[in-house]
Amino acid sequence: MPTLGNPQHTIEIIQKYKFTFQKKFGQNFLIDTHVLDKIILAAGVTKEDMVLEIGPGIGTMTQYLAEAAGRVAAVEIDGSLIPILKETLADYDNITLIHDDILKVDIRALAEKYNGGRPIKVVANLPYYITTPIIMGLFENNVPVDNITVMVQKEVADRMQEGPGSKDYGALSLAVQYYAEPYIVANVPPNCFIPRPRVGSAVIRLTRHPVPPVQVKDPALMFRLIRASFNQRRKTLQNGLNNSPELPYSKEQIASAIRQMDLAPAVRGETLTLEQFARLADLLTAVPQEASGTDPL
Ligand code: SAM
Repeated sequence: MPTLGNPQHTIEIIQKYKFTFQKKFGQNFLIDTHVLDKIILAAGVTKEDMVLEIGPGIGTMTQYLAEAAGRVAAVEIDGSLIPILKETLADYDNITLIHDDILKVDIRALAEKYNGGRPIKVVANLPYYITTPIIMGLFENNVPVDNITVMVQKEVADRMQEGPGSKDYGALSLAVQYYAEPYIVANVPPNCFIPRPRVGSAVIRLTRHPVPPVQVKDPALMFRLIRASFNQRRKTLQNGLNNSPELPYSKEQIASAIRQMDLAPAVRGETLTLEQFARLADLLTAVPQEASGTDPL
């Protein structure tokens, strides 16, 4: 049974190893067993699953995962935690501990090696300084995943699940929703961690879509349009796209695409749905690239 997950045991381990928390690694360790149970339940972990844990810390959640999953691979960047993990995880024979930076790990290769390339589950109390690159990396690199169930900053969880009309709606919302169905499992207050983070946290589950909810000929172009629209949030969609160095289209080409979508000329990007960004991308994909920059569509 898990032996960690309460403040007393966590403090004992930290003192025994004279561990010092490193802010640069976003180290806030979970000390609430109810939250840990909720995470495992929400992720739907079974003995059939291989789970990737990012940042096991002293191994608190890793113990829970090892009880529930068939196999766990845990990737930890901080070398001073490795001897601690060797002790706290000694009773489990289904854990592979990897001392590395998750952003440098070939996760597809891990899934191949330990799960025969079948979809894995990702469960983590993420280091908040790299939440977005970790999640987008998993999606964009086509890592085979069923779902990603992670603790993130509350504000980031909100941004991932919002739609048009909310101040939290943005490029992250659209990117996440293109790849997955978000669901906020629980809000978690600072007193559930040692040390306490300055911000509220939330557990969010992202269930990978088997096929994306919109069809778009050139997803990379759609994401360039999305970025350009939200980089200049206060500007109209037309000006935002026109000002973007990432996009080769003339003012007239952009205006024509907006007209064809029956949108007002002064529409703002933040009001567009994922479907509308996909359609806009398809209209602009059809613009001949060799045309001089001023040809209308
Ligand atoms: N899972 C533990 C828990 O819930 O108590 C610790 C979570 S703590 C928020 C984040 C963990 O990620 C820390 O152990 C930290 O050292 C580790 N970490 C930070 N950056 C990392 C990276 N680039 N690659 C792998 N692990 C990282």
